[in-house]
Amino acid sequence: MNKKQDLLDMTLEEITEAFEKLGFQPFRAKQVYKWLYSGQLDFEQMSNLPKEMRQKLGEHFTAGGVTVIKKLVSKIDGTRKYLMKLHDGNIVESVLMKYHYGYSVCLSTQVGCRMGCKFCASAPLGLVRNLTVGEMLAQILSICNDIGERISHVVFMGIGEPFDNYDNVMAFLRRINREDTLNISFRKMTVSTCGIVPRILDFAHEGIPVNLSISLHAPNNQVRERTMPVARKWNFEELLDACNEYAKITSRRVTYEYSLIKDVNDSPEYAKMLAERIKGTLCHVNLIPVNTVEGTNFDKSTRPRIEEFKKVLEDNHIPVTVRRELGSDIMAACGQLRRNTIEENRKV
Ligand code: SAH
Repeated sequence: MNKKQDLLDMTLEEITEAFEKLGFQPFRAKQVYKWLYSGQLDFEQMSNLPKEMRQKLGEHFTAGGVTVIKKLVSKIDGTRKYLMKLHDGNIVESVLMKYHYGYSVCLSTQVGCRMGCKFCASAPLGLVRNLTVGEMLAQILSICNDIGERISHVVFMGIGEPFDNYDNVMAFLRRINREDTLNISFRKMTVSTCGIVPRILDFAHEGIPVNLSISLHAPNNQVRERTMPVARKWNFEELLDACNEYAKITSRRVTYEYSLIKDVNDSPEYAKMLAERIKGTLCHVNLIPVNTVEGTNFDKSTRPRIEEFKKVLEDNHIPVTVRRELGSDIMAACGQLRRNTIEENRKV
């Protein structure tokens, strides 16, 4: 049997061509395309298509092949976490957050991850595979369908390393930017990387004004290596050089993510060291109290310690914010729900 084609992996032109082969007129492709990007991924629900066509669509195509198997809604702030099952049984997570400026979704780019960051819930499970463009789209479209409202912002801070699935992520960004799809501005998209230096430089040359976040989490290579194995491949200096090069080429600010881990990277001396290293560059620092993941022995820094770290950066004129923690009652931090589900299933 032929594998079904995923309509979300195809452009409108490709869908039109495939439809023609099945005897469907070009306007049908436009109708289906419109349904898909309004969040309707179920052919049976596409009410302006003839019944036989809906059936035939189901025989030949899928639309993302993703099913929401669990949804958790935070009682504290309304953050929603979705556990999504892919056509092959693998699981990823997506999160919806509401801000004063609109809805933002946090998407996964891979099933698992091979970067091995020691504080991360996804690292111990390793990488299974990359997600396709269609699977990334299905995450955001399923959420659109669930809330019935427009999503204005997209961040890649779910499971996976976006720059380890570079081509699909770039194709996805360009797809959701199109006026006839989700029309999301490049400036409202953020890609986060643990520091794959060659891809940062490629990204600088893409010519799309998407925001770049770097998971830095350390003031030097020695500290970085303790929690992030990627630092052994591309060291701290190379990483910051690439970020400065990116800022020079794009004239865009780089955001440094810094998860504060008690007694590992949170001392005022480290804050000073970091400030010295990034002073005068086009950047912003986001401080995040680390989320304690079961099986690791990393604890959150205390509030006074976080404030002290922040003050040192401010005194050195580095723009800095402490990120608000959302959905803390629903394990909204990436990877935790998937991991728990996999572990529960193993027990059965
Ligand atoms: N692989 C990409 C994006 C996914 S993770 C990257 O590394 O940037 C999104 C962010 O969450 C990254 O900054 C990552 O370092 C951070 N992160 C992972 N586990 C965390 C935890 N337990 N507590 C706080 N931040 C964490």
